[in-house]
Amino acid sequence: MSETYDLIVKGGRVIDPRNGLDDVLDVAFKDGRVAKVGDLADASAAESVEATGKLVTPGLIDLHTHLFKDFSIFGIDVDDLSPRTGVTTSVDTGTAGWINYGGFRKVIMEPAETRVLAYVNLSGVGLPYRRGEMVYEGYVQAGECANAIQQFPEGTIGVKVRLYRGVGGDADLRDLLEIAIEAARRCEKPLMVHISGSDVPLPELLAPLRPQDVITHCYHGDEIAGILDASGKVLPEVRDARDRGIIFDIGHGVGSFSFDVGRKAMDDGFPPDTISSDIHGLGINGPTYDLPTTMSKFLHLGMPLEDIIERVTDAPARAVEWDLGHLGEGAVGDLTVLDIEDGAFGLTDAEEVTLVADKRFACAATVKDGKLWYRNDK
Ligand SMILES: [Zn+2]
Repeated sequence: MSETYDLIVKGGRVIDPRNGLDDVLDVAFKDGRVAKVGDLADASAAESVEATGKLVTPGLIDLHTHLFKDFSIFGIDVDDLSPRTGVTTSVDTGTAGWINYGGFRKVIMEPAETRVLAYVNLSGVGLPYRRGEMVYEGYVQAGECANAIQQFPEGTIGVKVRLYRGVGGDADLRDLLEIAIEAARRCEKPLMVHISGSDVPLPELLAPLRPQDVITHCYHGDEIAGILDASGKVLPEVRDARDRGIIFDIGHGVGSFSFDVGRKAMDDGFPPDTISSDIHGLGINGPTYDLPTTMSKFLHLGMPLEDIIERVTDAPARAVEWDLGHLGEGAVGDLTVLDIEDGAFGLTDAEEVTLVADKRFACAATVKDGKLWYRNDK
């Protein structure tokens, strides 16, 4: 007798980098988990999704988002955006700080259908507004930040700090980085460091970082704190940092992604480790839009399809050290069905450069915890 499943996604091209899969396969779910991947023509299920001609991937993980809606100008509605863009796990990167993180959990993280994980800002107030979150030095406390993280271990990934010029008034960014590392050390968690707009050269910011720490906005186009030297080559200190286990994340956003830097870095053998949107309230209507749009930019820059999928599934799962981002038997039942549409699509970076791409990703369906969460019926 054939097995009965809750849901089967049929006939798509399954790309699962963790498990080395790239083949036309069916994926079956039962009790919220991946039950089987293979040829399941004889199996029956309560519900099925036809994915022939489409791409099937583990549920997408966006490693850099801002979700504290109504408490921050950056906050977006996570459950409005995630299902229709194939994102099953969204990692808030310090929109809440150690003062208001308990509130963030209560009103955003716990009620959300999307799986929400979070970095906690070194600034006690997080990111209520564009700038200035560490101008008042009372907000900057390593011990309090570590305490908040230890108080709420479930889904809390680490410490977030933004190191742009003026974030702490006259404070030296190197000193603020030291306090952030102290907070991360006290709670034994990684640190995510925002590097765009900085007035400190990147090698100085990389030197004190530890394995599993994340540099976000790695393809920003600012003069200082970039990954490239004056001739457009990747700095040796940047390669050394990757070799030491430091993770280089995209964090597109509205001010932190340059096609030019991306092309030069990839030409010089330095693709990003993770592709994330940095989606927030100021970028959701462009140029960021969502994670599939950010992925489309890498498709246009020539990154192989499997490499793009790896950087929005397996790689961010490893960055947050959660058992996500793959379709192994028994894995969390999250999956994304993507179309690759043909046409002429304008893609704009954070430097207001628009390129016209002939392909783009679009979400066709999303499965979360073994249930069909979204299907584009157009
Ligand atoms: Zn951000």
